[in-house]
Amino acid sequence: MGFDINAFREHIRQFCLTEVAPIAAQIDKDDQIPSTLWPKMGAERLLGITIPKEYGGLGLGYLAHIIAVEELSRASGTVGFVYADHSNICLNNLYLHGTEQQRQKYVPKLCSGEYLGALSMSEPNAGSDIVGSMSCKATKTNDADWIANGTKKWTTNGPDADVIIVYLRTADKTIGSHSISAFILDNDIDNWQRGKKVDKFGMRGAGNCELYFNDTIIPSHQLLGKENEGVKILMAGLDTERLILSAGPIGLMQAALDLVLPYIRERNQFGSPIGSFELIQAKTANIYTSLQTARSYAYRTAQAFDQGMPSRIDASACAYYASHAAVNVALETIQTLGGIGYMNDSIAPRLLRDAKIYEIGGGTNEIRQMLIGRELFKQDPIIV
Ligand SMILES: Cc1cc2nc3c(=O)[nH]c(=O)nc-3n(C[C@H](O)[C@H](O)[C@H](O)COP(=O)(O)OP(=O)(O)OC[C@H]3O[C@@H](n4cnc5c(N)ncnc54)[C@H](O)[C@@H]3O)c2cc1C
Repeated sequence: MGFDINAFREHIRQFCLTEVAPIAAQIDKDDQIPSTLWPKMGAERLLGITIPKEYGGLGLGYLAHIIAVEELSRASGTVGFVYADHSNICLNNLYLHGTEQQRQKYVPKLCSGEYLGALSMSEPNAGSDIVGSMSCKATKTNDADWIANGTKKWTTNGPDADVIIVYLRTADKTIGSHSISAFILDNDIDNWQRGKKVDKFGMRGAGNCELYFNDTIIPSHQLLGKENEGVKILMAGLDTERLILSAGPIGLMQAALDLVLPYIRERNQFGSPIGSFELIQAKTANIYTSLQTARSYAYRTAQAFDQGMPSRIDASACAYYASHAAVNVALETIQTLGGIGYMNDSIAPRLLRDAKIYEIGGGTNEIRQMLIGRELFKQDPIIV
C-alpha cells in the first residue's frame, strides 16, 4: 500500500493538538521543554520517521519527515526545531553512516526517545566557513584511539543530549577537505564538558551550548564513517538538513494563517470585519501564497530525494525561500492583528522570533544564495 500523506498528517496533527499546542506558550515562557514530551513522541513512533522499522523507525521517506516537522512547528516552533535536529540531523545521519554495531547501540534508543540526539560542527571561529576554519581537532594515539581538544559552539539539544555527532579536524587542513572526521560522542566518554545553556531571541525551550574538549579520549570505534571523510557526511547531511529544516518555516506560516483567518472575521472596525478590507485581504493573500509556494517546492524536492535524486541546489533554495518567506509572513501577521499582534501573550511575536533562526541555522541565507548561484553558474542552460 502506498504512503497516505493525508492520514499521516492527520495522525501527527492529532498528537500535536493534544500534546504540543497546549504547552507551546509555556515552553516559550519557561525556556524549557518538559522532559515527558520526548518519550511520548517516541511512543507515537515520530522520532525515527526515515529509519527502517527493524531499528524502531517508521521506514518512511523525507516527504513524511517534512510533514512531521511542519505539523510540529505549526503547534510549537521550538518543538519542530529540536525534533528536526534530533530526528534528521543526528539520527538520520547516524543511521546512514553508522556501522551495524553503532546502529544497534544508538538508533533504537534515539527512535524510542530514551536518547536525545544532537550534532555539533560550528565553533567560535568557524561558522559559514566551517570546513576551512575548523580548529577543534583530534589526533590519533598509539593504540589508535583519538585525543580531542578544542571548543564547539551553539549545539542544539547540546545541554541534554545523550548522543552527539561531532566533527573534528583529524589531518592538516592544508591537504584540503579530506582532513575532517565525524565521531559519535556519548556520556560514556570521559573528560568533555558542556557550557551553560545560552539565552536566545527565539526557539526558546531549545537548549544550545558550547562543548569543551580537553585531552578527551575518543575510542576508535566511535569514528562515524571513514577517517578524514567527514566532509562528505557533513555536506550530504547539510543537503537533507536544509530540506527538512524548510518544513519548520512552512509550519510557522501555517500557524500564522491559523491565527489570522479567525481574527480578521471576528475583529470589526468601521462597522465591518477587517477581513472585508482589501488591504487586509492582500496580506492574507500574501501569507497564503508564500505558504503554498514554500510547501509545494519542499514537497516536490522531498519526493525527488525519496526517489534517489537529491538536489543540493533545490534543498538550499527550499530553505532559503521558506525561511525568508516565514519572517515576512510573521511580520504581516503582527501587522494584521494590529496592537494585539505586538503583545507577548499573542502567538504572533513568537512566530517572528522562531522564524528568524531559519535564516541563520544550518548555513545562513547568504551562504544558501551563494550555493544556489554557484551551482547555477556551473550548469548548462537551465532546465525546469
Ligand atoms: C539557535 C542556533 C542553533 C544552532 N544549532 C547548531 C547546531 O546544532 N550545530 C551546529 O553545528 N551549529 C549550530 N548553529 C550554528 C549555525 O549553523 C551558524 O550560526 C551559522 O552557520 C552561521 O555561522 P556564524 O553564526 O558563525 O556566522 P558567520 O559565518 O560569522 O556569518 C556572519 C554573517 O556573514 C555572512 N557571511 C559569511 N560568509 C559569507 C560569504 N562568503 N558571503 C556572504 N556573506 C557571508 C553570513 O551570512 C552572516 O550574515 C546554531 C546557531 C544558532 C543561532
